[in-house]
Amino acid sequence: MSIRFDRTGTLYLAAPLLGVLARGREGKIPILMYHSVADEDESALQPYYWIATTPAQFLQQMTLLHERGYRTASLASAVGLLQDGRGTVERTVVITFDDGYRNFCRHAFPVLERFGFTAAMFLPTASIGDRPEVFNRRECMTWADVRELQQRGISFGSHTVTHPQLHGLDPDRIREEVLRSRQTIEDKTGCAVDSFAYPYAFPQTDAAFKAMLRAILEESGYRYGVCTQIGRAGAASDPLFLERLPVNSADDPKLLQAKLAGAYDWVGGLQSLAKRVRRPRTKTGSQK
Ligand SMILES: [Zn+2]
Repeated sequence: MSIRFDRTGTLYLAAPLLGVLARGREGKIPILMYHSVADEDESALQPYYWIATTPAQFLQQMTLLHERGYRTASLASAVGLLQDGRGTVERTVVITFDDGYRNFCRHAFPVLERFGFTAAMFLPTASIGDRPEVFNRRECMTWADVRELQQRGISFGSHTVTHPQLHGLDPDRIREEVLRSRQTIEDKTGCAVDSFAYPYAFPQTDAAFKAMLRAILEESGYRYGVCTQIGRAGAASDPLFLERLPVNSADDPKLLQAKLAGAYDWVGGLQSLAKRVRRPRTKTGSQK
């Protein structure tokens, strides 16, 4: 089955419908989720599961944001805008990267810098060293890379220490992953860390787990967080579990534009529904 259900539904059902419904009840901010920016062959997988964006596509995507007048914001200011309700959130976007891949330095940062864009990178700290280490078959940035990027406007958050499936771990292990990663980044950079990205598929329908994790994140000093729940962030979003829009090489300008406008948010509803149907507790999910 090679039909892209998410792409087809977004471009041919949701986007036209949104247009009819008067430009969607706005007030939402797209938070883009990237991983690797490199020429990688992921053709064995459905595009929905790709985590790489080619440098050419990344340039095209950032060019689209620039031409459409988007400004990039930090997670803190995005949440501030959403909760304040006074300023406009229109044409605001947050750009995030998970996993600390070193190809960010070569292929993503120069493009971001050219357009005056900022971004947040989430690090699995066990894979960040003084020399490049490998996570998920890709080279990761070093602490020297991290410090240099930070001086040039990129912000860094935690993506745990060892990138485990947190769902199902006991609270002490979770606390260790969450707290130690923050302390390590702060020690290595000298800057405060207040944001966290949940590794792998987020168990968004498990309310008890979410409450436990929220408490651990709060007591560990986090104020903002992102996850793999699909959608744009709104005033009702949990600041520690903000929805994101996954982006990869399959996002041509047409699809990316539709996602930014909210025409992909329905996939998040489908994602939650699928998890409810699949419960109790599966640990499977996309490798993000
Ligand atoms: Zn990850």
